[in-house]
Amino acid sequence: MGKRSLEQRLNEGTVVVAEGYLFEMERRGYLQAGSFVPEVALEHPEVLKQVYRDYMNAGSDVVLAFTYNAHREKMRIIGKEHLHEPLNRSAIRLAKEVAKEHPTEEALVAGNISNTNIFDPEDADSAEEVRSIFAEMATWCKEEGVDFINGETFYYHEEAVIALEEIQKQGLPAVVTLGLMGENILRDGYTVEESCKILSEKGALVVGMNCFRGPNTMQPYLKGIRNEVEGYVGGLPIPYRTTEEHPTFFNLPDGGCSCSLPTETTFPTSLDPLYHNRYEIAGWAKEAKDIGINYIGLCCGASPAMIRAVAEAIEYETINSKYSPDMEKHFLFGKDKTLKGHNLNYSKKA
Ligand SMILES: [Zn+2]
Repeated sequence: MGKRSLEQRLNEGTVVVAEGYLFEMERRGYLQAGSFVPEVALEHPEVLKQVYRDYMNAGSDVVLAFTYNAHREKMRIIGKEHLHEPLNRSAIRLAKEVAKEHPTEEALVAGNISNTNIFDPEDADSAEEVRSIFAEMATWCKEEGVDFINGETFYYHEEAVIALEEIQKQGLPAVVTLGLMGENILRDGYTVEESCKILSEKGALVVGMNCFRGPNTMQPYLKGIRNEVEGYVGGLPIPYRTTEEHPTFFNLPDGGCSCSLPTETTFPTSLDPLYHNRYEIAGWAKEAKDIGINYIGLCCGASPAMIRAVAEAIEYETINSKYSPDMEKHFLFGKDKTLKGHNLNYSKKA
């Protein structure tokens, strides 16, 4: 069977997308929290391939090339500007290799550009610098043969527009998702609903939100975007229990922490106790699908088991669904008739 395009898949159903490589690589020990640069694509390609594979086997229809933050400015800050192009190309090539491993239908491969953190709406030169950053990355994506490009985590509308324009110059479909900070408005004054409407009308195939917010504080905005936008909408929250008072993971307190932290915030390395469980995540995914979100996934903090829960919540069987939880044969909690009764009776005291 030939590989369907992103647009075909969106037309036929919901697309599942795993993101969150930055946190996952840091958790596995191959990326430094703070600078957050994906050098792993060059230094440990086998590790990156395995994470791509883990996410795909957990149900992601897309292998997103891990080039988040792999832009010229970040590479300059860590003194490795010369590795900029090889790193980008390697991350995409590895993604393509894994996508081909899919046993039923080859996964889509997406290039990735993201918030540069140098954009300043008051400074026209910064917009030009951002444009040239996106232009070179999008060119490499095109040359390496990605299926589409995901521009993500933009907290300025105007930066998202530049990303969209540079993706379109390469003739590739664009998925553009916004990161909404705790102010509940993009930093240049647009609401996410306004921004998504504009991006969609300018031709982005999918618009929506990713990162910063958990399901609780992203979902109200996804509803608003769904109401405003005629085209496809995407939602990829972080899997943490954000609240109205603390809407993003940047300022999420942990009341149960018993030590002093090296940072003022639980972000980024002390968020573990604040996770949603996979069933809460699955509940959100179902709700997102029900309100008409077309491109559903998770961002920073995601695990393969959570991705699988998302995919199964929207009624997809994944490559690794055969390993999905089934307590039938558990020695304490199982229902299997051949289990030992003295253990089952013991379960309440265990
Ligand atoms: Zn993220």
